[in-house]
Amino acid sequence: MSGDREAAGGAAHATAPDGDPPPLRLDGVTKQYAGGGGTVTALEDVSFTVERGEVTAVMGPSGSGKSTMLNMLGLLDDPTTGSVELLGEPVAGLSAAERTDVRRERVGFVFQDFHLIPTLSAVENVRLPTRFLDADYTDRAVDLLTRVGLGDRLRHTPDELSGGQKQRVAIARSLINEPDVLLADEPTGNLDRDTGEAVLGEINTIADGGVGVVAVTHDELVGEYADRTVELIDGKLHD
Ligand code: ADP
Ligand code: MG
Repeated sequence: MSGDREAAGGAAHATAPDGDPPPLRLDGVTKQYAGGGGTVTALEDVSFTVERGEVTAVMGPSGSGKSTMLNMLGLLDDPTTGSVELLGEPVAGLSAAERTDVRRERVGFVFQDFHLIPTLSAVENVRLPTRFLDADYTDRAVDLLTRVGLGDRLRHTPDELSGGQKQRVAIARSLINEPDVLLADEPTGNLDRDTGEAVLGEINTIADGGVGVVAVTHDELVGEYADRTVELIDGKLHD
C-alpha cells in the first residue's frame, strides 16, 4: 500500500517522470464533524492516490462525503486521523501559509456553481488567482480561454455567458497557475447533457497534458468520461 514511497522522493517535481511520488495521496483518512446531533463520520479510512494524466470520477450519492474528500485533497481542511501526502510528503508538517502557497501553486479547483466574480470579464476572472504575483498573466488567460473555445468571449461577464461557457471559464481559471492536480466538485451539475459532454471532453484534454484530475459527482456521465471510477458510499471508498 504505502510501500517505499520515500525511496522515490527527492526528485524535482516539475518534470516528474514515472516512478516519482504521486502529486496527492490520502492515506487512511477519516474525517469526523462534531454537530448538534452528535458526531458525523463523513469519511472513513479512505486511501486514494491522484495519478498524473488520469481522470478519476468519485461517484456517490448526496451526503456520501464527496465534498469532504475534495476538501482533504485540496488541503482546505485537516483529516481527523490519517494523512494527506503531497509528492510523498505529509502536509501535516506545513504551516498554514505554506499550505496556502502549495494550494495556489499546485491545485486547481472547479465548482458546480462556477464561483466566478460577476463584475469581472472572462479574462479578468481567469487571471484573478495571479493578482498577487508580479507577472502579468493576461496573455496566458487569453490562451487558456481560447483553448477552451472561448476566444470570442474574452470580454464577456458571467451574466453574458451560458452555463457551459461559465464552466469553461472556471476551468481556464483553474489552470492559470499550471496545477499538477485539478479538483472538480460536480463539474457538470448545472449543465445539460451536451454541454456537460463538452466540458468533460475539455477536462480529458487537460489530463492528457499530465494533470491529475479528480471529479466528484453523482452524474453518471462523468464516469463515462473518466479513466477510473471509484465509489464513495457512506464515507467509504470502493474500487
Ligand atoms: P457530499 O458532497 O457527497 O454530498 P459531504 O462531504 O458534503 O457530502 O458531506 C458528508 C457528510 O458530512 C454529510 O452527512 C454532511 O451532513 C456532513 N458534513 C459535511 N460538512 C459538514 C460540516 N462542516 N459540519 C458537520 N457536518 C458536515
Ligand atoms: Mg458535495
